[in-house]
Amino acid sequence: MQDKYSSNSQIFLEQTKIIQKRKGYSGVYIHFPFCIQKCSYCDFYSIGSGIKPSLVEKNIFQTYKQELQTRLAENQYWHSYIYDTIFFGGGTPSRMDLLYLDDFIHFLKTNLKLSHDLEMTLEANPEDVTEDNVKAWQKLGFTRINMGYQSRNPKYLQYVGRYYDPDQYKNAPKILASSGISETGYDLIYGFPGQKEEEFYSDLDFLLSFRPTHISMYSLTLEKGTEYSRQVREGKKIQPEEDLQIKILESLPTIMNSKGYEWYEVSNYCLPGHRSRHNLRYWMMEPYLGLGPGAHGYDGHSRYGNARNLEAYTKDPTITKQEAADYATELFLSLFRIFAPIQIESFLWNQAEQVKSIIDLKLKAWSNRKLAYYENGIFQWKSQAVMYLDSYILELTRALEENSTLQKS
Ligand code: SF4
Repeated sequence: MQDKYSSNSQIFLEQTKIIQKRKGYSGVYIHFPFCIQKCSYCDFYSIGSGIKPSLVEKNIFQTYKQELQTRLAENQYWHSYIYDTIFFGGGTPSRMDLLYLDDFIHFLKTNLKLSHDLEMTLEANPEDVTEDNVKAWQKLGFTRINMGYQSRNPKYLQYVGRYYDPDQYKNAPKILASSGISETGYDLIYGFPGQKEEEFYSDLDFLLSFRPTHISMYSLTLEKGTEYSRQVREGKKIQPEEDLQIKILESLPTIMNSKGYEWYEVSNYCLPGHRSRHNLRYWMMEPYLGLGPGAHGYDGHSRYGNARNLEAYTKDPTITKQEAADYATELFLSLFRIFAPIQIESFLWNQAEQVKSIIDLKLKAWSNRKLAYYENGIFQWKSQAVMYLDSYILELTRALEENSTLQKS
């Protein structure tokens, strides 16, 4: 694997690692659906269950184990992989009971071939990031803590129904920064109704002052079926500030680059060498074993989706929707969200010559339109592509679909 460009053309960012297809690796995703309260914009499968964790939250570990054992017994693919990431997401997995969590991690270690170089992530909300908890998480082997911070301004958090503990919002970043955990990250949201550009950048500066290794920044969106989208439809709430979102989306790459952060996916930045291996797995279409209600999995051949319903999941965790994966289309929908350089050929190993040539032509066309760099089989978007990224990706998937229709007729 090439770590730095030596290209004379100097077209690529320095110190950036080329994205290449990997084989033989998988990850585990565990979905813990419980939160203190349900945020109105959230479309993840999550349940507001109050400050004090309930017995149901402890019992879910038993069902995770049952699901894992059944999946391993029924699908040989899961035995062929080395697992180099474990990601506890949700919901709010930082409220997991530590004893149950310890037992479950031990169970994963016993049942899966884990890599020696394991990335183990916990998504945490500020209210749970106490000194004791962080120490305990470290002891359990977590190498990454990613905090769902979203905003420092209670006005905006309350507007979207997010739980806010003022002391913890202040203290949690300090605790995390001094914990010695090697990978620390934050999620921030921009474009709350009424939010000023400088308010967002003040949140960003505050978090960057702790020099986290990773930061994800998302625009507030109206997701179908959420409370917030219903409230907007009924005229009870205002929709997100789209003009502000466009402005911020355009400015972030330059700002973050000046602070030493690599832009490696539309919404994700990291210090060099600190990309989220687990999240890259999704964009590179690598296998992952999803456990929990509402979790998805991909065994390298087909996908499954678990019931988005705790009761149904508890009754039978492996009653799932199974779908064959369309490798080429799905891959390009996600791979081209990456802004780091990609060695395209490594992802096309199983594709027909005709498909390869369509892709090659499209990448050359993007390069001619000054949207991207494409040289010696390495592709990288230029920052200006971000505004219409979805439409460019659509151009490619349409060209592939037309080709497959022609082949069939
Ligand atoms: S805390 Fe996170 S997962 Fe829970 S409801 Fe809010 S956004 Fe969704």
